[in-house]
Amino acid sequence: MTENAPPTVRDPTKEPIKSSELDPKFKYKLIKMHGGEKLLKCFQCGTCTSDCPVARYSDSYRPRQIIRMAQLGLKDRILKSDTLWLCAACFTCTDRCPQDVEVASVIRVLRNLAAEEGCVPQVFKDQAASILESGYAYKIPDLRIKKREPTGLPPLPKGNPESVKKSLKGVAFIDKCVENKGAPK
Ligand code: SF4
Ligand code: SF4
Repeated sequence: MTENAPPTVRDPTKEPIKSSELDPKFKYKLIKMHGGEKLLKCFQCGTCTSDCPVARYSDSYRPRQIIRMAQLGLKDRILKSDTLWLCAACFTCTDRCPQDVEVASVIRVLRNLAAEEGCVPQVFKDQAASILESGYAYKIPDLRIKKREPTGLPPLPKGNPESVKKSLKGVAFIDKCVENKGAPK
């Protein structure tokens, strides 16, 4: 490796598949879930990936590949992969799929399953904890808040975490955060 070469990032989607990883029942579970019903209609044309705005800027995010992995039953690989969380939920893939596969919804279903297993990237756990604590997704540094007045900006509106908690009551991931008084581990 040369001095300026970027660090090697492990990409589980590029690793050889072992038959022991395949869960043949996984696809049947997914097609019973709202949004996952048409998963098996995918014939791997690649339209979703070629039109996906995230795939355009990522070396690893490929919605077509996620759909294929779901069909094959590579459950752990998908649920433990951080790339699942790169989807911006723009629904372009769903609009363009010639087979009417609701790609964005399949990804939502997979994220829900990942969240149930606690496989949520730390950045989102931290954001959830911050929203529940302050009403803001990020803690705004005091220095930046102080700079508002001299530049003529009004004070920041106060966050309303209680209202957020009320609106999100019943969302399993958020309930877990409340239980743990912060991001679930
Ligand atoms: S566009 Fe539809 S059929 Fe084509 S690869 Fe994506 S999900 Fe499969
Ligand atoms: S919904 Fe997600 S996968 Fe589909 S095109 Fe948008 S970013 Fe890509």
